[in-house]
Amino acid sequence: AFLDRAAEVDGDISAFLHIDRETALAQARSVDTRLASGADLGPLAGVPVAHKDVFTTVDMPTTAASKILEGWRPPYDATVTARLREAGLVILGKTNMDEFAMGSSTENSAYGVTRNPWDLARIPGGSSGGSSAAVAAFEAPLATGTDTGGSIRQPAAVCGLVGAKPTYGGSSRYGLIAFASSLDTPGPFARNVLDAALLHEAFSGHDPHDSTSIDAPVPPVVEAAKRADIEGMRIGVVKEFAGEGYQPGVLQRFHEAVETLESLGAKVVEVSCPSFDTALAAYYLIAPSECSSNLARFDAMRYGLRVEDDGTRSAEEVMSLTRAKGFGPEVKRRIMLGTYALSSGYYDAYYGSAQQVRTLIKRDFEAAFKDVDVLVSPTAPTTAFPIGERADDPMAMYLADLCTIPTNLAGNAALSVPCGLAPEDGLPVGLQIMAPALADDRTYRVGAAFE
Ligand code: GLN
Repeated sequence: AFLDRAAEVDGDISAFLHIDRETALAQARSVDTRLASGADLGPLAGVPVAHKDVFTTVDMPTTAASKILEGWRPPYDATVTARLREAGLVILGKTNMDEFAMGSSTENSAYGVTRNPWDLARIPGGSSGGSSAAVAAFEAPLATGTDTGGSIRQPAAVCGLVGAKPTYGGSSRYGLIAFASSLDTPGPFARNVLDAALLHEAFSGHDPHDSTSIDAPVPPVVEAAKRADIEGMRIGVVKEFAGEGYQPGVLQRFHEAVETLESLGAKVVEVSCPSFDTALAAYYLIAPSECSSNLARFDAMRYGLRVEDDGTRSAEEVMSLTRAKGFGPEVKRRIMLGTYALSSGYYDAYYGSAQQVRTLIKRDFEAAFKDVDVLVSPTAPTTAFPIGERADDPMAMYLADLCTIPTNLAGNAALSVPCGLAPEDGLPVGLQIMAPALADDRTYRVGAAFE
């Protein structure tokens, strides 16, 4: 049914980069066989999932929405991919995204834009916009994403879905094409909190293939999503996430959400996290720095595209021509920014300072979590904006991540749940719930009580 639905609507939405009916149906049949032979695959056996094209998959191409990886077939499955298969989920196809996960609108894909099912003239969020659009358009009940600065929570918010950014190291980066390794976190999209928790649990947990994977049990997110009671929980409203740049209807729905939490028995207080105002600036030094280093591997020799290799050019020329042709403008901007910030002479002023700011943000969270169990804010300052509106203005685009970035810099857990439609445009608004590292279950407990 989901394959039929995708065949019917994906021409308008463009959520998928690759969809393969036969491969999907073969997976479904093999799940049937495993179940028939008595295998206990868990609650998601046979459930279809749309998979972000940043995770390697042996049976489908993997491009990270870049021309530089066009046609590349990975020789191995990412850990997230392998765990989806083990749990009997059926991978329908690979979803569109901003190239190498750099963006907030899915307009930076080398393979065209994805449209928001709520309004086809608007962005579905990004970078995991193909995943959010696929679930919002009923092309899949579940989807995977990655969140480096907000790329699951913001698309979930603007498409009216639930999206989680697990604790950093709680879900494996093995086989996830790297953007900013100290921030990248795989996580789930779903239509409700319990479904998101089930998917979260299915692919998370310790992975010896990822050196930053946490060797601890997965937080009890499913149990928390079922509990859905927040009597006596202490909830902090982050004071800094309001004011200029916030759409009035977003703030209105957010304040109503806070009142709802209070009426459910939570104790709400205002909390100040003064360093959060500098998070965006620090992120846009740290993430490009790591990107410039990670993307050095695309050298025209090892993967994908190789241009102008006619025997007359040096390896260096082929490499440079291939990177010029294979990377899109936003990726080049990040590589240049990062290379500059890491250069000797500038390192301390830029990268070094950004790392100090990162520590201050961690301390703000630590101080806040002494007094409250979770923090809440709007997930994004605005609802889905029109396609093209911010395409030529990187600063305006970067502001979409204002509320989500501090969590990535600190390595904490956060969840976005729908909190109604903005009165001025009738588009979905997201409520962000943030918790300390390894306390992901708290975000699900509050999210489930709220929804
Ligand atoms: N929009 C942010 C960026 O462009 C975050 C991206 C992400 O989380 N992958 O870097």
